Amino acid sequence: MAKGKYEYWLSEEGLILIEGWARDGLTDKQIAQNMGVSRSTLNEWKKKYPDILDTLKRGKEVVDYEVENALLKRALGFTYKEVVKERIPDSGQKKRHSNGVELTETQWEIVKNYFNNECCYCGKSGELTKDHIKPLIEGGELTMINVLPCCKSCNSSKKDHEMLSWYQKQPFYSKERAKRIYDYVSFAGSIMGVLEERENYLVVTKEIERTALPDTTAQIFWLKNRRPDKWRDKAENVIDNKSDNEIKINIASTRDKNK
Ligand SMILES: [Zn+2]
Repeated sequence: MAKGKYEYWLSEEGLILIEGWARDGLTDKQIAQNMGVSRSTLNEWKKKYPDILDTLKRGKEVVDYEVENALLKRALGFTYKEVVKERIPDSGQKKRHSNGVELTETQWEIVKNYFNNECCYCGKSGELTKDHIKPLIEGGELTMINVLPCCKSCNSSKKDHEMLSWYQKQPFYSKERAKRIYDYVSFAGSIMGVLEERENYLVVTKEIERTALPDTTAQIFWLKNRRPDKWRDKAENVIDNKSDNEIKINIASTRDKNK
């Protein structure tokens, strides 16, 4: 781009750029900077080349309209809908437990993978059964956090014994594998939290219609600028002290003087 050359800024492309910057709300100073000229050069060009002046005006008008509309909206007040969404539990058929939902097939696969598809106690691979850390008869549930993969022989040997005390007595006891089990329990705990979250889903529970009350500052600003004859500070002072009837008279007389 040949910055600084007025010929370029008079071309279609140049004018489009200028209009865009003005529309973006850039000041003349910023636009001059983008054009690579000084503010005073831009002012000169505005005088010399009506195309540049008109384009700047056109771009700024768009922003002015947008601000005007926003101001008018604030001045008049407006209503809007507030949507409230809440998580509610899935009312599906899944059996719910105090520690979460019943182990799914996918979760069982995750459990087995965590232990490399080996018995978590002896390390044997092969057919794996679901061992309850807290036994069923003690209220242990078939949930991810209470289930370990173990071989048939470990499962029938452990039965309803307390997990660690039983495990430590076994010839194949391994500190590493015991640690792995405890790591798994905390892993399952965090996963259960995520899964529970997902079980619940967001629904719209409330739609509240709210009203933004008219904003007096916006009103005054609007009226003072749109109807300076009526609403300039002089007239405003009158309003503060006089009754409605008097105001009309006073505003009328102010207006007459202005004519
Ligand atoms: Zn085993």
